[in-house]
Amino acid sequence: MDIRDPLHDPVLAGDRRALARAITLVESTRPDHRERAAALLDSLRGETGEALRIGLSGTPGVGKSTFIEAFGLMLTGQGKRVAVLAVDPSSARTGGSILGDKTRMEQLSRDPDAFIRPSPAASHLGGVARRTREAVALCEAAGFDVVLIETVGVGQSETLVAQISDLFVLLLAPAGGDELQGVKRGIMEIADLILVNKADGDLKSTATRTVADYAGALRLLRKRPNDPDGFPKALAVSALESSGLETAWHEMQALATWRRETGHWDRTRAEQAAHWFAEEVRAGLLAQLDAPETRARMAEMARDVASGRRAARAAATDLLETLRGA
Ligand code: GDP
Repeated sequence: MDIRDPLHDPVLAGDRRALARAITLVESTRPDHRERAAALLDSLRGETGEALRIGLSGTPGVGKSTFIEAFGLMLTGQGKRVAVLAVDPSSARTGGSILGDKTRMEQLSRDPDAFIRPSPAASHLGGVARRTREAVALCEAAGFDVVLIETVGVGQSETLVAQISDLFVLLLAPAGGDELQGVKRGIMEIADLILVNKADGDLKSTATRTVADYAGALRLLRKRPNDPDGFPKALAVSALESSGLETAWHEMQALATWRRETGHWDRTRAEQAAHWFAEEVRAGLLAQLDAPETRARMAEMARDVASGRRAARAAATDLLETLRGA
């Protein structure tokens, strides 16, 4: 018998409180919650709409929250529903989150067509990203048109966010010199759009130069098969003055449309789903290893191995056998 979760219908109807509760369920580590979350996600699968998932990264102070607020309000102004989620690497250590904070996006958080959610706390970054990916799926089920996934530019989190997103946007500050702000090559390689923010006032001409620098650097990168001509692209914006945002949105849509029409969109999403399936399996196995009884048994066996009573490989095979039977 198929008994639907009480959150199923309200989430599909776009109820933001139900959505928030469903995300809490997904983020919970309680076994009964995990089971309920998995069943809910499975029952919503296939019924959901398709949002444009935009990954957005940038170092602290570059203007991420100012940009999201201005960009989000522009989109809700066009009748779109916008969700903002966060993958915060520091939340894996501290349990808290500096991203997706409503106080940083005051106006957007009051907009009935917007939904803002800080980063889940999890024991490690991979876990944060897995839960965020499920939160994205819930936002799609709730009928959001655009899901922005914010992260801090520190390296590993961008790669994870790119695995959740359809488009990846890198926000940079205007800067002189040709050192390209120490942006790692790996990050440049996953960016679809580089937005040089703060192109206003005294910084305007520096921003224009920075855009040219990055446009040049992007042209030197290997051409990726999932890009039309002209992408990845660099543009100047001012989140503070809301300028350049329409153009940025236009470019994002043009890229998304091209990827949809050429089949890259579906292929990327299919590859991402397969990737996260493998990650879930890996995480599930690691969680099994982390169970108290397994840890106790491992500690005991480690003592035997250390004292030479057992060979490492034979002991490991034994332990894995017991896991298989679990
Ligand atoms: P975040 O840490 O990346 O979220 O950055 P914030 O959005 O909090 O912005 C950091 C600082 O940069 C704040 O003082 C903002 O007012 C300022 N800022 C953000 N966007 C712009 C912009 O487009 N132009 C200018 N001049 N300042 C900006």
